[in-house]
Amino acid sequence: NRSITTMTEKEFRLDPDCELRFEVESKKDTVDLKLMNGKAEVFGTELAPDKPYTFYPGAKVAVFTWHGCTLKLIGNTEGTYTAKETPMVMYLNTHACLERLRKQADVGYGRGEDTRGPATMVVGPGDVGKSTLCRILLNYAVRMGRRPIFVDLDVGQGSISIPGTIGALLVERAAAVGEGFSQEAPLVYNFGHLTPAANLTLYNILVSRMAATIQDKMVANRKVASSGIVINTCGWVKDEGYKSLTHVAQAFEVDVIIVLDQERLYNELVRDIPFIKVVFLPKSGGVVERTQAMRVLGRDDRIREYYYGLHTKYHPHSFEVKMTHLQIYKIGAPALPDSCMPADMKVDDHMTKLVPIEPGVKLKHHMLAVSLATEPEDLLTSNVAGFICVLDVDEELKMMKVLSPQPKPLPKTIFILTDIQFMDSS
Ligand code: ATP
Repeated sequence: NRSITTMTEKEFRLDPDCELRFEVESKKDTVDLKLMNGKAEVFGTELAPDKPYTFYPGAKVAVFTWHGCTLKLIGNTEGTYTAKETPMVMYLNTHACLERLRKQADVGYGRGEDTRGPATMVVGPGDVGKSTLCRILLNYAVRMGRRPIFVDLDVGQGSISIPGTIGALLVERAAAVGEGFSQEAPLVYNFGHLTPAANLTLYNILVSRMAATIQDKMVANRKVASSGIVINTCGWVKDEGYKSLTHVAQAFEVDVIIVLDQERLYNELVRDIPFIKVVFLPKSGGVVERTQAMRVLGRDDRIREYYYGLHTKYHPHSFEVKMTHLQIYKIGAPALPDSCMPADMKVDDHMTKLVPIEPGVKLKHHMLAVSLATEPEDLLTSNVAGFICVLDVDEELKMMKVLSPQPKPLPKTIFILTDIQFMDSS
């Protein structure tokens, strides 16, 4: 009694400078893409001929060709069409400008100067393709033999580690077509909230810390230094969000700011930071807007991927721990009205205050960061080794069940409570 499933197969012939756009429709089935002839790339990663590339549910994809190609899609896709208008030539020109700055850095270094390649920051409101442009620029750089650093400061929809973190990766290979950049040994700082607005003081401290660590990395590795940095940012571009963008530009000593889509933001940045090159680029018509519900699902997927990998290639561990084993802190005390604050205390002190947390049922479903700090004083600015999720709490037996990427026992370290929640349905 075998069920017969029909697989949709469709071929597409693309003219030069065109892209095929599609979304993976199904909630569980994947879609395979094959390059039948010609040349094509997915967000800057070249496709090999005849090789099936798998895309997972929810993927929104563009396959671009500079010279023309034939593609085959196997599986059910949605919103599938070929676009003739794309901003890819402008994105390629931007890459060429960055490559010129890298060459200048090399020449300067040859003359004995202390140079580095460009630090480029991509800014813009939500859903304009910031992450995608970062990926394209990084892929083009790697294809030129460069080894750039990718910094993702988007705590809501970033692509390194789990939501609520900022992270950095050394990019040594082009992104895998259906999966993105390899996440071996990322540098991750725990912020613990989904928007910088939740604790701007802490966000800015972590950004500065990350910038300093990367600066050290560049001093130690010339190839990385001349390749430069590409920074993805949050879509929060108004008021305090705007200020935090200018803080990022300062902390990383950014050379180029690319503003996607929003002219007002472009004009503000040109006015406020005249000494940095600010470039305006249009967004691609292919960028898919995400509803709030899709963003929530996307965040859940990222945590699931953190534990299980794409296609369940990892096997996380769940086990019980004694509550007394865990030393847990939260960063930032609830704000007090000014009149209640001790005279010598500033708001900033409040936002960075370490508050010890008694383990209990309120931690259920929360993610806890496994800090690399050995002393509570270092918690704020230490990077993290990973995350555990509190699956269940038994207050009577004083036991907690946790989900961990590593087998037990938990390291004897300090844990930081985050606002990020995850319900493991796997
Ligand atoms: P955020 O608001 O989360 O910061 P963003 O500005 O970083 O969003 P992206 O994540 O780059 O936007 O893009 C949103 C979605 O659109 C992604 O799923 C991406 O794969 C898809 N996308 C980007 N460019 C294209 C394109 N040219 N064709 C089809 N889909 C695209």
